[in-house]
Amino acid sequence: MRQKLVIGNWKMHGSLAANAALLEGIKAAPARARLAVCAPFPYLAQCQALLNGSQVVWGAQDVSAEARGAFTGEVAASMLGEFGCTYALVGHSERRTYHAETDAVVAAKALRALEFGILPVICVGETLSEREAGQTEVVVGRQLQAVLDALSAEQLGRVVLAYEPVWAIGTGKTATSEQAQAVHAFLRGKVRERDAGVAERMAILYGGSVKPDNAVELFSMSDIDGGLIGGASLKSEDFLAIGNA
Ligand code: PEP
Repeated sequence: MRQKLVIGNWKMHGSLAANAALLEGIKAAPARARLAVCAPFPYLAQCQALLNGSQVVWGAQDVSAEARGAFTGEVAASMLGEFGCTYALVGHSERRTYHAETDAVVAAKALRALEFGILPVICVGETLSEREAGQTEVVVGRQLQAVLDALSAEQLGRVVLAYEPVWAIGTGKTATSEQAQAVHAFLRGKVRERDAGVAERMAILYGGSVKPDNAVELFSMSDIDGGLIGGASLKSEDFLAIGNA
């Protein structure tokens, strides 16, 4: 039985005061799921300090594929590792769309994160036009294949996968639990072809307008192991309600 995992993606939101209130709220109450928050880089040290000693862990929203060097504005996995970062989102659709991250770059970032002990949360998902063209499995299959080609089975065993249909992110439209389950089962099947044990242990999260009122149904599906939560992770009561769904 895989433990549920609920990760908040704060995106480019927050302030020292707002984060402190949010983190205090999240820490204060127990959740059935393991909880994590992925904050903007300047606030990671604040998360580290305020979450110290709590059950909630923290992560970054991106990580460089490069180890070090002349890459202005990039943040290295080694730097995140020094602070005790647990997770890094990799290949979020906003990075793929606005920063032209290719499948190969996403795989390279995942590898670099793993090298420094950070667990990559690798995001895959199709656009609305791809879904309507019946291309969902082709697209998410291609995105996952790049990772399968780059990682060993041992490395794959430290990956979290997140299925995030692009049309459901921040739109208020959620995939039905059946739509999401079908894609999760497909993704797990592809991982199983590589390594059955890894596939059974791998957390595959769903992301895309998850809210307290739809989380219970989504999380009741056999291949949905929790959620990657954007908007609803900015309110402690909503995030905790999802963590208890
Ligand atoms: C996300 O940013 O990964 C996300 C799923 O956002 P939202 O929950 O707001 O759709």
